Amino acid sequence: MALEYMFDETIGQLNSQSATEPQIKRYQALWNEAVAHPGYVLPCPRCYLKGRSSRLKSLSDEGVVVCEACGNRFEYDNPEAQ
Ligand SMILES: [Zn+2]
Repeated sequence: MALEYMFDETIGQLNSQSATEPQIKRYQALWNEAVAHPGYVLPCPRCYLKGRSSRLKSLSDEGVVVCEACGNRFEYDNPEAQ
C-alpha cells in the first residue's frame, strides 16, 4: 500500500470537509503514529472529524481503502501500481 499517496488523499478529504488547521495537524500526528507501529490502524478522515475512531481497510493494492465504520471508500492514485 502506498501510504504517502493515501495520506495525500485523506488530507484532501479533511480539507473538503472544512477541517481546521489544528484538526489536520492532529490527524497527521495520528497517522504518523499509526504508521510507525506494526499492525497499525489508519484513521478514517470522515470518522475522525466526527470524533469517532475507526479503521481504514485496504481493498487492494491499487488505491482503494474503505472505512470499517462509516463505509466510505477513498481512492487515491498510486503511481507505483502497474
Ligand atoms: Zn469512517
